[in-house]
Amino acid sequence: MILPGKTLGVLGGGQLGRMFAHAAERLGYRVHIYEPSADSPAAEVSAHAVHSLYTDLKALEAFVRACDVVTYEFENIPTESLRKLESAAVFRPKWQILEIAQNRLREKTWLRENNFPHVRFAECEAGGNLAEAIRSIGLPCVVKTADFGYDGKGQQKVTDELSLGRAVASFKGQRAVVEQWVDFKCELSVIVARSTAGETRCFPVAENIHTKHILDLSILPARVAAGIQGEACAIAEAIAERLSLTGILAVELFLADSGELLVNEMAPRPHNSGHWSLDGCVTSQFEQHVRAVTGLPLGDVSLTAPSVVMVNILGDSWKWAGDQCVGEPDWTVILGTPRAHLHLYGKKEPRPGRKMGHFTVTAASAEAAIELALRLKAAL
Ligand code: AMP
Repeated sequence: MILPGKTLGVLGGGQLGRMFAHAAERLGYRVHIYEPSADSPAAEVSAHAVHSLYTDLKALEAFVRACDVVTYEFENIPTESLRKLESAAVFRPKWQILEIAQNRLREKTWLRENNFPHVRFAECEAGGNLAEAIRSIGLPCVVKTADFGYDGKGQQKVTDELSLGRAVASFKGQRAVVEQWVDFKCELSVIVARSTAGETRCFPVAENIHTKHILDLSILPARVAAGIQGEACAIAEAIAERLSLTGILAVELFLADSGELLVNEMAPRPHNSGHWSLDGCVTSQFEQHVRAVTGLPLGDVSLTAPSVVMVNILGDSWKWAGDQCVGEPDWTVILGTPRAHLHLYGKKEPRPGRKMGHFTVTAASAEAAIELALRLKAAL
């Protein structure tokens, strides 16, 4: 057990690291951040920060040696660096889990090999025959880059011969995954924590609504039957067990029109679809992550209101004149509303599509929470 007073290292310095640092500092830990960029929301609120590249082994080694445990808030860290530092650090979750989750092909292959329900896919190696891989899955399908994809970046839907040709041209022989298109009732996510003692605990299931591939709204609890929620949690817990996870893991799923649950993605870190837990749950996902990686007992994951809705605030909400930012949203809209909570990440430069903050509302019913959330979003 790594007791309060010790130092927790975080690789990555974005908003997830910032909210992790808040939770850790509240429990009496010191947080060190490792982040290449100088503009870091997490570094701003932490005891110490190192700004260097993930490939700078000397800087990384000095960083991990000063920490009692090292975790991540960012997935795309070259695991080659972590492998070399294995004897110098305690990585939680272990870096091998990051290696699986950061690459779609490895992730999907792992799901298939371990018999977890997933979207049917075909692999196209670098320089391989993408058209053939697309035809083997059938249309419609979606082509995704194998590495470094998030928020729908590097994805293309293929519905006919014309879009097939376009996809082949734009992927230019890159390594890719071709996935069957899933007609789904909704998208769900589950955040599961697993302690050093092997205890697992799931947060309530979130229903997620994406706009332009970016998470827009999370609704808690998800508006699906209790049986589906139980099934989603069972899948997440079984994945955590199979991975021998220490920490938290977000599992994103499609509830297909057929009624089947299919895993889409996994992330061994706090997740955007868990931000609601800061205001709507006894223990937040960030505190749970601190507890899990330090070996403290896991916290209670009960909702504190019948319904919670989280809305992402993107740079699009700023006032723009062409590509010039000319003003910020009127925060009093949220600050002046009872049962609404504003979280801003301290990012200096707003950009369309950039996650700048979020807000949460709680209410007595899903209808009331959604209505209030959408009204505040429009008013921003
Ligand atoms: P991803 O980056 O894989 O999470 O994809 C971003 C979003 O694109 C998902 O949340 C879905 O809304 C949509 N999407 C991705 N893959 C598929 C698929 N195979 N079928 C249908 N929609 C998809």
